[in-house]
Amino acid sequence: MKGSRLTNMILIALALGIVSGVVINEFFTSSDFVMNVLVGGIFTVIGDLFLNAIKMLVVPLVFVSIALGVATMGDMAKLGRIGIKTISYYMLTTAFAIVIGLVVANIINPGVGLDMSKVVFVETTTETTVSLADTITNIIPSNVFQAFYNGDMLQVIFFAVFFGVGITSLGDKVKKLHIIFEELNDIFLQMLMILMQFAPVAVFSLIITTFATLGIEAIIPVFSYVFTAIFAMFLQVLIIYSLILVVLGKLNPLKFYKKLRPAMGFAFSTASSAGTIPVNKKCVEESVGVDKEISSFVLPLGATINMDGTAIMQGAAVVFIAQAVGVDLTASDYLTVILTATLASIGTAGVPGSGVIMLSMVITQVGLPIEAIGVIMGVDRIVDMFRTTVNITGDAICATVVARSENALDDEIFNQEIEI
Ligand code: ASP
Repeated sequence: MKGSRLTNMILIALALGIVSGVVINEFFTSSDFVMNVLVGGIFTVIGDLFLNAIKMLVVPLVFVSIALGVATMGDMAKLGRIGIKTISYYMLTTAFAIVIGLVVANIINPGVGLDMSKVVFVETTTETTVSLADTITNIIPSNVFQAFYNGDMLQVIFFAVFFGVGITSLGDKVKKLHIIFEELNDIFLQMLMILMQFAPVAVFSLIITTFATLGIEAIIPVFSYVFTAIFAMFLQVLIIYSLILVVLGKLNPLKFYKKLRPAMGFAFSTASSAGTIPVNKKCVEESVGVDKEISSFVLPLGATINMDGTAIMQGAAVVFIAQAVGVDLTASDYLTVILTATLASIGTAGVPGSGVIMLSMVITQVGLPIEAIGVIMGVDRIVDMFRTTVNITGDAICATVVARSENALDDEIFNQEIEI
């Protein structure tokens, strides 16, 4: 199915799911057939199948994509100053983005008022709080197979990062394995793409179940999650990015955004930063004035490891889910979220929907029920369109700032009114 058609189908499924769910909740709760055969039976099974398939991909995809991301970063860092500048910029802005997501969500409180314990099973009693010291000690697995088996994501990530460092340091000696990892990554992403073809049916099933159980009252919290994520992204662009453009890029941010409009529009409609690389490159080179050598290196790397919009979504989603299932996040949970979500953004591929896979890793890491992702999944396409736009904007700004610092930005081009 073509990208834009799939997007439309998902959005239609979302709307239909909400309307049908609310109608069921209003008029059919006493019908055994509707509640037990349809909602509790067929739709729950379809939703669960989809969530299981997503969960199935989490550990292998996280391992391979993070190891590969780190290996790529290592190779880039070997390129010297520009590589190091780019990677530091990417990591810093991502960590900032998560904090913005967490803070905005804690102010708006999107999940308060939504009792998700009716739709997902929440284990609150057996949960023992893990101290900060333990969280840190547990990052290194004493048995890596156990880490994979338990799906302990911090440990899997640690091993992946370390493995990636190993790949980089051996360089050409392990060229074959590097290629195998690239191919494995492609395979997992292909599996995700195939899975996404079923997203319209899955979204409909997940959303109808949620709204049939929770009723119309669920609309406000669910959309306030969407609003929280989008609002935090606006802040990232309007405040953080604009400041970076003014201070480090010495450019007028409004003019910059205007020049980036074609790439932003493309990212918004495709929800794929990888797919947007060619348009982004064209805008950044021909309209902003960044030297080709810099953009050819910074943009593809960014589309692989730099996902500020995704990071914001993860911060907002974690807070939303915690509030909806009534779990209080501790300081060490927040630290874990910042850490895992930063690494998750390295592992998030620039294709539609991959942010949710990484989100499931972040939420399991802080002990939240992975099933809660069903609600997030239902509205994810909307958030995905916005976050992809932010993701590619972050990459373009990095390219611009790095070019400025290397004297490789052509102000004459920037000052011209060039339409792409
Ligand atoms: N769709 C996003 C991108 O391509 C990744 C994500 O799902 O967060 O940048």
